[in-house]
Amino acid sequence: MRILTIVDKKKMIVAEKPVPKVEPGRALIKVSYAGICGSDWHMVWGNGVRAGQNAVAGHEFSGVIVDPGDTHFKAGDRVTAIEYTPCGECEYCRGGKKHLCPERFSTGIGLTNDGAFAEYLTAREDMIYKLPDSIDDVQAAMIEPCAVSMHGASLAGVKEGSKVLITGGGAIGLFAAASAKALGASLVVLTEVNPIRLGQAREAAFIDHALSGTAEGLTDTLHELAGGLFDCAVECSGNQRAATMALESIKPGATLTMLAYGSGPQVDSFSFINDEKRIQGGVFFTQEDFERVIAMMADGRIDIRQYAEIITMDDAQDTLLGLDNGTKNAQKYVMKITSE
Ligand SMILES: [Zn+2]
Ligand SMILES: [Zn+2]
Repeated sequence: MRILTIVDKKKMIVAEKPVPKVEPGRALIKVSYAGICGSDWHMVWGNGVRAGQNAVAGHEFSGVIVDPGDTHFKAGDRVTAIEYTPCGECEYCRGGKKHLCPERFSTGIGLTNDGAFAEYLTAREDMIYKLPDSIDDVQAAMIEPCAVSMHGASLAGVKEGSKVLITGGGAIGLFAAASAKALGASLVVLTEVNPIRLGQAREAAFIDHALSGTAEGLTDTLHELAGGLFDCAVECSGNQRAATMALESIKPGATLTMLAYGSGPQVDSFSFINDEKRIQGGVFFTQEDFERVIAMMADGRIDIRQYAEIITMDDAQDTLLGLDNGTKNAQKYVMKITSE
């Protein structure tokens, strides 16, 4: 089968590898589309992690079951899967936080096991989800990143009527805005410094106001729009100024969820303590978040299909270099891996 593999820092090629064997409890999936995630680039290719080992990254995908093995799936089922692999027995797994299981990376798709930048992969039965007909293969490859954003919005406490501030308008910020709106937020405001991303945010139906992160008097504008302070915020920029502004813009007792690596907010201990604000990290998502995204995409409450730009495996190297030097600006590059 064809795979994309890392041969050096910032260098990957299309190569060949045998189709993986189907082990007990796993099914063989033919990959339809696979999304490129920032973490694939920054943690894997950019740094040359596992270079030269014929390893395969990719954890955002859609596909079709070709060999169900001993699982309950059938050949031909359209599916996606969660990339992490919890043990099912530890305190986190039993407590509904499988995404924090110490074993979560042990055989994860595109993490330690081979991933979706290949024509075939295997996934664990309990992590595979059948796709509703109303979600096409391209949008299905974006369920995973959207679940990350949904998790961030849920941790921030977004509910019906919430006024929500999102800082950073890359894919995760944009999808966090879509998630917040789908959860019933009455006001979604997003800040972004990149003019191209800001333009996209301004056109998004699920964002009420998109503001330049460098605009003068930004804090005043935010307060005006919210009629005071926000009910919660999701930080998706990794920028300290944005994170600090987000923390200062939420109500006493409110939560700022951080989804971007980078600099956290500068904490003024006096107001932080007196206002009992919370800074919450967010990693992966719960299975409930993942299921909620599938349900909300299926009935159209979440529609992020337009943010995908479709490329092929042969375009991947150029696309990644373009992402690195700022000449490629799509929110999400989704590779067509195989066709029917
Ligand atoms: Zn990702
Ligand atoms: Zn566990």
